[in-house]
Amino acid sequence: MLRDIEREVELTHGLTGRARISDRVLDALRCVPRHAFVDEGMRRHAYDDGPLPIGHGQTISQPFIVGLMTDLLDPEPGDRVLEVGTGSGYQAAVLSRVVSRVYSVEIIEALAVRASERLAALGYHNVETQVGDGYHGWVEHSPYDGILVTAAARAVPPALVEQLKPGARLVIPVGEPYLPQRLLLLQKEEGGLVSETEVLPVAFVPLTGGH
Ligand code: SAM
Repeated sequence: MLRDIEREVELTHGLTGRARISDRVLDALRCVPRHAFVDEGMRRHAYDDGPLPIGHGQTISQPFIVGLMTDLLDPEPGDRVLEVGTGSGYQAAVLSRVVSRVYSVEIIEALAVRASERLAALGYHNVETQVGDGYHGWVEHSPYDGILVTAAARAVPPALVEQLKPGARLVIPVGEPYLPQRLLLLQKEEGGLVSETEVLPVAFVPLTGGH
């Protein structure tokens, strides 16, 4: 799987501007047992570089995209990061190996409960999950050193920008449901201004909820 990710990173270098993923993120991808985040019937595909169904019409993301999005945050060991879209818990587990604390919000209760039990059983004790609409972020633990959204929003949710520390990054797919979307990297500058870089065309399930 790691070789496939590195090959994909090289192939997309012209678009992403990233020739490689950091060793810390690669190590995290190497250590997290992806097979433990999918159902029994999917396990033989767990180390393919592709998304897989996790029930409720949702997916565990492609490992290359998980690695790229994690790397785009430029994570530091002391960081506190918010993830929107816990899903299987896999992305949260990868993040948990490169930062000090992960907060993850999932809108489908059954997925949130399963992911939380799985993360605890696997020993990822620095991840906290909550059932809710991540469009609004998770204000109690804000501001964050980074925010990663794993479902496609029609536009960047203002609450997520508000909940970033100055200098922090937000990685988010933006676009219409089921059409090619744009993976965006936003950085909040010291004065509150936000810069935006378009990274790659992507295809994510939609960010749902009442907003
Ligand atoms: N990060 C996940 C993983 O590692 O398995 C994959 C996430 S899946 C591509 C997108 C997830 O976002 C789904 O589980 C979906 O239910 C969730 N989601 C969609 N809209 C949401 C919202 N408004 N708030 C929180 N989670 C949401």
